[in-house]
Amino acid sequence: MTVILDGKTLRNKLLDELKVKIDKSNIKPGLSVILVGDDPASKIYVDNKKKTAEKLGIRSEVITYCANVEEGVILDKIQELNKDDTVHAILVQLPLPKHIDKEKIINAISPEKDVDCFTTENYGKLAAGLEPAVYPCTPKGILLLLDEYGIDLDGKHVVVVGRSNLVGKPMSLMALRRNATVTTCHSHTKNLASITKTADVLISAVGEVLIEEDMINENIVVVDVGISRDKNGKIRGDVDFETVCGKTSYISPVPGGVGPMTIASLMLNTYELFEKLLKRSR
Ligand code: NAP
Repeated sequence: MTVILDGKTLRNKLLDELKVKIDKSNIKPGLSVILVGDDPASKIYVDNKKKTAEKLGIRSEVITYCANVEEGVILDKIQELNKDDTVHAILVQLPLPKHIDKEKIINAISPEKDVDCFTTENYGKLAAGLEPAVYPCTPKGILLLLDEYGIDLDGKHVVVVGRSNLVGKPMSLMALRRNATVTTCHSHTKNLASITKTADVLISAVGEVLIEEDMINENIVVVDVGISRDKNGKIRGDVDFETVCGKTSYISPVPGGVGPMTIASLMLNTYELFEKLLKRSR
C-alpha cells in the first residue's frame, strides 16, 4: 500500500513546536526578505513566507524593489541588514532581473545570516562536508519529511533529477552525507528511464511532468519537488501522480508535499541562525 508523504501535517507539527520556543523568548528572531521585480510567483512565495513568519512571532519584513533597481542599492541594503542586530536571517528571493549580478548580491549576505545556504562560503562548506550556518531549505525539508516516515537513505540508490544550485545539487550533496549512493540527472542525461528504474528513492526537481509509470520500479520512494501548472492553471508536480502512485511505497503529492516543508525549513533555519547569533553576542 502506498503511503503519502504528508508535508502539510509535518509542517504544522514542526511550526507548532517552533512557536512554543519563540513564545518563550523575550527577543524575537528577525527575517528579512528582498524581492526585486514583479514576478507574480515570487510575490506569492514571499507573501506566504511573511505570513507564516508573523504567525510564529518571527519579526519579518519584505523589502521590495522595482525590476530596474540599481545593483548598488540592493548591496547597500544588504550591508545595512548585515549590521542590524534585530535581523538574524536574510533571503534574496530568486530569480533576480538579468542586469543584476546574482552572485555578487548573494555573496554580500553575511554567511551567518544566510538562511538558505546560498553564499559561496556556506555552499562550499556543504560541498566539502563541513557545517554550513544552516542547510538549504528545500533539501532540508525533504530530509525532514523522509525522516518523519522512517525512510533511511544509508546505502540506498538515490536518483536526483535536476542539478540546480537551489535544489538538485544540494539535494545530491545532502543525500551523500546520509551515505546514499547518488546519481544526479539533468537535461543532458541520456536514457533517463534506465537510471530512474534503478532508484530506491527518486527525487525529481525539474518543473515539467516527466516521471511516468514505466520509468520506475515497484516499491520505490518518490519525492516530487517540481511545480508547474497544467492548461487549466492547476498546480502539478514532475510526477504523473495518478499512474505512478500505485507503484510506489511512499510518494509526496503536489501540492502538500515538499512545498510546505520548504517553508517550515525556512522558519527553522531563521530560528537556528537567531540562536547562533544570540549565543555569539553573549
Ligand atoms: P531549475 O533551476 O530550472 O532546474 C531544473 C533542473 O531540471 C535543471 O538542472 C535541468 O537540467 C533539469 N532538467 C530540465 N529538463 C530536464 C529533463 N527533460 N530531464 C532531466 N532533467 C531536466 O529549477 P529549480 O530551481 O531547481 O526548481 C525545480 C522545480 O522545483 C521547479 O518546478 C520549481 O518551481 C520547484 N521548486 C519547488 C520548491 C518547493 O518548495 N516545492 C522549491 C524550489 C523549487 P540542466 O541543468 O541541464 O538545465
